Amino acid sequence: MKQWEDNIRKVTPYVAGEQPKEKDIIKLNTNENPYPPSPSVQKKYSEIALDRLRMYPDPEASELVTSLERYHGLDKGQVFVGVGSDDVLSMAFLTFFNSDKPILFPDVTYSFYPVWANMYRIPFETPFVDDQFEITVSDYHRENGGVIIANPNAPTSLALPLDRIHDLLRHNQDVIVIIDEAYIDFGGESALPLIDRYENLLVVRTYSKSRSMAGMRIGYAMGHPGLIQAMVSVKESVNSYTMSMLSISLGTASLADEEYFQKRIIQIKETREKTKNELENLGFFVVESSANFVFAKHKTIPAEQLFHELRERKIYVRYFKKQRIENFLRISIGTGDEMKKLIETLERIIT
Ligand SMILES: *Cc1c(COP(=O)(O)O)cnc(C)c1O
Repeated sequence: MKQWEDNIRKVTPYVAGEQPKEKDIIKLNTNENPYPPSPSVQKKYSEIALDRLRMYPDPEASELVTSLERYHGLDKGQVFVGVGSDDVLSMAFLTFFNSDKPILFPDVTYSFYPVWANMYRIPFETPFVDDQFEITVSDYHRENGGVIIANPNAPTSLALPLDRIHDLLRHNQDVIVIIDEAYIDFGGESALPLIDRYENLLVVRTYSKSRSMAGMRIGYAMGHPGLIQAMVSVKESVNSYTMSMLSISLGTASLADEEYFQKRIIQIKETREKTKNELENLGFFVVESSANFVFAKHKTIPAEQLFHELRERKIYVRYFKKQRIENFLRISIGTGDEMKKLIETLERIIT
């Protein structure tokens, strides 16, 4: 072994859901939105002159930041933008979790959290969710170096009521509390109204799910201007130009069409409830979902087997070979047609 190999940072990276190259598949494995972004995004896209790519983008992404502040009724300096919420969350870990005490997050949650904690050498502990996948907030009433909760949680799809989050904040006023609201547009109650009362609260959102723009890579955080400024300083110590000219422009355009946005969300929620019923009729237990996916377990057939059988039939869902959730499938909500094919296919596999 060469001596320099000792000095290589050793990490176990996050494994994202597959992005298969084949075209004729039904892709229900990474919680993308099955509908296109708003026509306001298409219009803006067709107006952008290629020549604008010569120049660096605005390092502050002011147009997007200001539009988001206005959209959410916030003051100047309350929004931080990044390359998807993964980038925003990674910057938040780097900025806020610098204590010797462990940060806390549930044992069943977004599997990127332990990856960042390990990468940045942040100690962490993971209180257990209960058998119904509920987070027990009193587990977080203890000394820690910070807290991060996904609400609704992934991959369980369960929402934590706002009074529970409020309780979490009351008991954690000396550390930063991050609420990752990647799925909040599909259900649950946002913690956003609490940012005025709790200067230590950071709320993180993404364009990847509800705004149909996963390919554009836009995420953002909202909080007290002091927190946002701290994140901006860290970001500017890593990379000045995180937001491309396209993401600034198209991200802003997406906010201009609230009607389209709400219409698609309603459509996805309706498809979700229909899918939940049909899965239950096929013998699945389905967790109450507040997201654009369902988390389901069949009463007799192992999830891993269903995952492979669906895959052979070109339907991709997500399976985590992990303790406590190894009998569940995470199924993104696609179009009505896609879900109909999923149900028909499952029917054939099961019966
Ligand atoms: C999808 C997801 C993200 C990251 O999304 P980006 O595409 O990076 O914005 C973050 N947190 C949770 C819980 C997610 O499911």
